[in-house]
Amino acid sequence: MDIVELSLKQLHNELKAGNLTVSDIVGAYKNNFDKTENKIKAFIHTDWDEIEKKAQELTPDKIKNSNSVLQGVPVGIKDVLMTHGVQTTAGSKILEGYKATYTATAVQKLFDAGALMVGKNNCDEFAMGGSTENSGFFPTHNPYDLSRVPGGSSGGSATAVATRQVVFSIGSDTGGSIRQPASFCGVVGLKPTYGRVSRFGLIAMASSLDSVGPITKSVEDAAYVLEAIVGHDSYDSTTTDSKPEKYTDAIDRSVKGMKIGVPKQIDLASLSSEVQEQFQQSIDWLKDSGVEVVEIDLQHLKDALAVYYVIMPAEVSSNMAKFDGIRFGQTADKADDLLSFYMKTRGEYLGAEVKRRIMMGTYVLSSGYMDEYYVKAQKVRRIIANEVKQAFGDVDAFFLPTTPTPAFEIGEKTMNPIDMYLSDIYTVIANIVGIPGISVPSGMIGELPFGVQFLGKHFDEATILALANVIEKKRGNLPQPKILSNL
Ligand code: GLN
Repeated sequence: MDIVELSLKQLHNELKAGNLTVSDIVGAYKNNFDKTENKIKAFIHTDWDEIEKKAQELTPDKIKNSNSVLQGVPVGIKDVLMTHGVQTTAGSKILEGYKATYTATAVQKLFDAGALMVGKNNCDEFAMGGSTENSGFFPTHNPYDLSRVPGGSSGGSATAVATRQVVFSIGSDTGGSIRQPASFCGVVGLKPTYGRVSRFGLIAMASSLDSVGPITKSVEDAAYVLEAIVGHDSYDSTTTDSKPEKYTDAIDRSVKGMKIGVPKQIDLASLSSEVQEQFQQSIDWLKDSGVEVVEIDLQHLKDALAVYYVIMPAEVSSNMAKFDGIRFGQTADKADDLLSFYMKTRGEYLGAEVKRRIMMGTYVLSSGYMDEYYVKAQKVRRIIANEVKQAFGDVDAFFLPTTPTPAFEIGEKTMNPIDMYLSDIYTVIANIVGIPGISVPSGMIGELPFGVQFLGKHFDEATILALANVIEKKRGNLPQPKILSNL
């Protein structure tokens, strides 16, 4: 039995049947970690000793009666989520050495369900980026090609899942940071509806856009993890009471007769022929399964990126104000007065991309420019939301590629931020409108995985999980990442 390929449900069944122990599972994942981590660098912090100890305590007797499929499984947590007593850096030098004083709700729910935290996954600094190259510590490498990026900002999470260092990881998605790295690394990434999963304990990037969600090996695993982390939280007033569904049942729901819309504005013709083929293949699979695929008109899709890159930095500039060197983390050595102390601390410990966004955000909010940029972006946001709502009157979900290309080379886009921002072109709309999105691998382009994306109606994660499951089943197994087959 190849332990690291087992699904959450299979692991659970084997544990209950007494065919596996928690130590066997932790050992198998640890083995992969030891063989791959120095090449891919998926974690900022790990504590295997701690979970090996916990694994030993979880004797067969103790887990026999557990009904939680997460019981005893090693997981990764993106380092933007607070974990009590454990260093939490958000990928930033300014928080190096900072130990969180409480645990994020989503993470606590995983712990309550019995998951074991391997450590904290690397990410772009404060989740700002699309390649994990903006991490204040080190870049993470794509497991299918070490010279390429894993995507970002949850690049460490996606890489750790793809190389089977952990069963799954939890990431955050503000403009695509769960779905884009999932696409680049050949795994499943689910961004839930805004308000579905608590953001309490998520180090905020842009509060009206942020969501927390799973990165997993399979659609079924994503459904299990989602079930574990959803729900109202009195610490996050944007979470709703709306009844979560049994997502693990929903994935097997028949998709026959469903109707999905492909926005004509995605401009498929501008994408490489390989990307077009992948996308067309997925459409054929869906049609084979009885899904009706129609073209829809989302005239303002093209404006989503511009809206995102005004609203996001505005919120970033406000959220980042608290990192002043006094309350958290690192502090400048010497300064003459308070203002120069702030400036020295932030100047020294924040990276270039974070500074760029603080400046952009401060600019679009400054008096004289606010109406022209921020207020205008909010108005266009509303127009986009209305257009999306109208389009959903006619279809059950939208279907589009997750990204315009597979993983790019490390260093390829670092000199040109706009080029980097363009890789978010198909993902940001979900955050702007607050709807759920899932990326599922559709296959390989050469030696690199590629993902396609479903966007659903508010709180209708069930439908997009069922649709993604069709792609996964039709596709079959992806080849292993090179780094694993070379071991
Ligand atoms: N890549 C996008 C950005 O740079 C998305 C980030 C995110 O979702 N956290 O802003």
